[in-house]
Amino acid sequence: MVVDCLVELAHVFIDKTFTYKVPFDMEKDIAIGKRVVVPFGGQVLEGFILGIRNGDTTDLKEIISVSDIVVLNYELLSLGKYIKDTYLCSLMTSYQAMLPLALKARKKVDMKIKYEKYITLNDVDLSSYKFNNTQERIIELLKKDKIIKKEYLDTISKSSVNTLIKKDIVSISYSEVYRYKKENIEKNDFSLNNEQLNVYNSIISTLGKSSTHLLFGVTGSGKTNVYIKVIEEVIKRGKTAIMLVPEISLTPQIVDRFYSKFDRIAVLHSGLSDSEKYDEWRKIYRGEVDIVVGARSAIFAPLKNLGIIIIDEEHSDTYKQDNNPRYDAIDIAMWRSKYNNAVVVLGSATPRLESFARAKKGVYNLLTLKDRYNNVPMPKTIVVDMNKEFKKSNSYYSNTLLNEIKEVISRGEQVILFLNRRGYSTTLMCSSCGDTVKCPNCDITLTYHKSSNMLRCHYCGYACKKEKYCKCGEELKEFGFGTEKALEELENLIPEAKCIRMDIDTTSRKNAHEKIIKAFQDGEYNVLIGTQMIAKGLDFPLVTLVGILNADISLNFPDFRASEDTFQLINQVSGRSGRKKEGKVIIQTFNPDHYAIMCAKDNDYLSFYEKEMLMRKKLSYPPYYYLCLLRVVSLDYNMASQESIKISNMLKERVNNTIVLGPSVANIFKLNNKYRFQIILKYKDVLDVIDVLRKVEEHYFNDKNVKIEITFNPRRI
Ligand code: ADP
Ligand code: ZN
Repeated sequence: MVVDCLVELAHVFIDKTFTYKVPFDMEKDIAIGKRVVVPFGGQVLEGFILGIRNGDTTDLKEIISVSDIVVLNYELLSLGKYIKDTYLCSLMTSYQAMLPLALKARKKVDMKIKYEKYITLNDVDLSSYKFNNTQERIIELLKKDKIIKKEYLDTISKSSVNTLIKKDIVSISYSEVYRYKKENIEKNDFSLNNEQLNVYNSIISTLGKSSTHLLFGVTGSGKTNVYIKVIEEVIKRGKTAIMLVPEISLTPQIVDRFYSKFDRIAVLHSGLSDSEKYDEWRKIYRGEVDIVVGARSAIFAPLKNLGIIIIDEEHSDTYKQDNNPRYDAIDIAMWRSKYNNAVVVLGSATPRLESFARAKKGVYNLLTLKDRYNNVPMPKTIVVDMNKEFKKSNSYYSNTLLNEIKEVISRGEQVILFLNRRGYSTTLMCSSCGDTVKCPNCDITLTYHKSSNMLRCHYCGYACKKEKYCKCGEELKEFGFGTEKALEELENLIPEAKCIRMDIDTTSRKNAHEKIIKAFQDGEYNVLIGTQMIAKGLDFPLVTLVGILNADISLNFPDFRASEDTFQLINQVSGRSGRKKEGKVIIQTFNPDHYAIMCAKDNDYLSFYEKEMLMRKKLSYPPYYYLCLLRVVSLDYNMASQESIKISNMLKERVNNTIVLGPSVANIFKLNNKYRFQIILKYKDVLDVIDVLRKVEEHYFNDKNVKIEITFNPRRI
């Protein structure tokens, strides 16, 4: 017997398999999709078995070992080929992306399974022994329970247990345990209201067929409850479900809602350790769960009998992976839907324009939830023109917002303040020469963090002590404000405000996230200030005011999605207000007349959609054209520049029906000391561009100086 193996070779863009001989005693363990260890040119490497044959074994090397489980089943094996063809990566890269670290074909990863020790009583004639009292007691316990954790018996007497083991009266056995534990969540049931029931019935009626629904439901309309009921029915029919949520909203809150209904769940997100992920994966593999709740990569969960894939907050850009393979979990969902005849549900209060346009065309089935559950009214929204406030010298907090905060606090209710910038001040600028303090590695100003008194780069992590003076000798002044300062300022202005901050800086330690949410939920604080992280998924019944401190940050971002992002963000954050009782939202902005702000104020997605579609059409952006972003990255400025010109010229010559823009410098021109140029392709049919892009990718694959990054359908550029 011989096997064809795909071997993990760094820096080689080949999908070639290598053939090995299987030692006779290993033949019974061989299966396609298993991981193997093989000798390769003097090294020992890992790989996957892709083929098994009878063949000539002369001159072949033997495989060294083979895994006991099939890590890539048939579905994943063929999905890998789709990923390679669609996103232009090597087959190995796509297979590795589907597996948790513990199961990737990679040396040095030796993840341990955790075992617990148990003691059982051996079948021996106990009357022929003499025992002391403690030993008697242990034996009595074992007669009753047959198998008991060693840890527990050790509390009686470790030495007695060990003596019994030595005398062969009892023996040790091992049992695998899963490390991720969820304390018992109380089960609760609910029924759907009429609007929800209509949506539910539409989805259920398509089970068993590959089809896609877009669930367009306002925040608080109970989309999650619909998902839960639909999944319940899917499971009843003997099928399984994948529930994707954006990483940042994978809070204990959402996970608990699923645990309050189901037990057979696996959870996969970045808050778990690699060994916990390994355990969750094994639960799935063994068929011990019916539902996987997770972030982007959970789309690869090897569930059998997949009946439904639900993607909540489908507009979230966390569904797009930004390194190789640059896949979109929604594309993968569509592929798995076809393979399994499974239903896909995309849910959002603010669907991406691409998705809504597809729904309007009938490609997706449009389902709508117009009202909040229990008819709690949508929050009342006030837009504060900061141009006017600025003249009154309130640069961070308008009087309108301050008064509302005071009032809410005095009623014993809570406030959420959103500011999409962390740190204290965002720029240090010289008052004389106007120089700003930039990261030495990136083309980005450093952010001042007061608690650590450091300047930090939010892109590469560079940090240094804060300087007082500019190179020219004059004093440096702080400009702009982040969450750290917003909190300090508010506590000065309103002493009754007890504020807690949630952003990357306060949540880096394990479980910090959960602790902040719990403290706020328990009322230890009345104001939660945070970034993006607080925009989604949180459900605090006492929050009746949401303040958006600076709506212009996202609006001024140089990206074709800036308006869409702003509309979405305002809508998502506003959705945190008044979930049980009518609430308010205050938006502070210097652009009160911008259509994204005005439509967000009125919670009018449809008007926003119409206006934004006009812009997209005028500028040939999605959904009118598909985009592909090609980045040329190098430590050497000249090389990056020259190669990008070369590629752009070549593309302009070779592609048909496609707009080629650039090269131009990327938004962040220098990142981690690397210079970045970009070329943008706008096309109607991927077949017009894919072959030539594949050639570019292959051509530069082994280039040591210039790296090419190709992203199809980037969620932003
Ligand atoms: P969405 O996901 O659309 O933002 P949620 O599912 O979080 O909305 O629902 C908002 C609130 O309404 C939650 O507190 C939820 O428990 C409650 N809710 C929604 N639907 C129901 C229902 N059918 N029965 C009881 N409570 C519901
Ligand atoms: Zn940097």
